[in-house]
Amino acid sequence: MHGYLIDMDGVIYRGIDVIPGADRFIHALRAADVPFLFLTNNSQRTRLDVATKLQRLGIDAEERHVFTCAMATARFLAQQKPNGTAYVIGEGGLLTALHNNGYAIVDKDPDYVVVGEGRTFNFEMVEAALRMILAGAKLVATNLDANCPTHNGMRPGCGSIVAMLETASGVKAFSVGKPSPIMLRAARKELALTTDQTIVIGDTMETDILGGVQLGFKTILVLSGGTSREDLARYTYRPDMVVESIAELEHGNLVREWFPGEVRERGGMGFDARREEMLVSART
Ligand SMILES: [Mg+2]
Repeated sequence: MHGYLIDMDGVIYRGIDVIPGADRFIHALRAADVPFLFLTNNSQRTRLDVATKLQRLGIDAEERHVFTCAMATARFLAQQKPNGTAYVIGEGGLLTALHNNGYAIVDKDPDYVVVGEGRTFNFEMVEAALRMILAGAKLVATNLDANCPTHNGMRPGCGSIVAMLETASGVKAFSVGKPSPIMLRAARKELALTTDQTIVIGDTMETDILGGVQLGFKTILVLSGGTSREDLARYTYRPDMVVESIAELEHGNLVREWFPGEVRERGGMGFDARREEMLVSART
């Protein structure tokens, strides 16, 4: 059994356009019962919002196929401090995830200041958050992406808002989203896969590929997003495979290339069984 952690922006779609072949790849995974999760460092949307967006683009996805950095952050905080409190700079996806994990959203004396992306924050909120951090609230970021692609260009991401609070407070934020092992490990466990069985597909070296490399997952970089082949030379780490887009990928081919032993087993008698038979026949 193998499965995939799949980034969305730059892999499945770009802005409001679906990347050709993405629908076919996902449909094939579902038809073959291959486990997968869409992984996003965008904390604005809920699981249902993301699934709806994918369906409208013609991608065969349900809520259970979506794992956001807001979910990872809320689950992590619930483990660290059950039934805690948070002051939130962020939107619906983050608020819902925190509520679902037993967190109360407060305007005073929070355990954590939690920052996600959003278009609705203002300077008063940043000012309030700064005072809370200086009074001892812990600063948590859903992710540190500096900017987010939108259909009409880039806008400042969660990392930019966090940087303002870090500079003002002198406190470093703790980030849960990709490339943090917290989010990637949680996603792997959600699919009940082992490290060796997990394959990451992404378009960003600093998040998708770095996260996968750190955890020992197989990594596939697609060039349909923010990274070009020339960029690769700048990095100390490299993906296991580079393809132009997800359209080039086929699950069966990948398994045959990377895990040849397992294909043999599926073809009938596996290696261990054959070896056992030889041992038995040698004994008799
Ligand atoms: Mg991406």
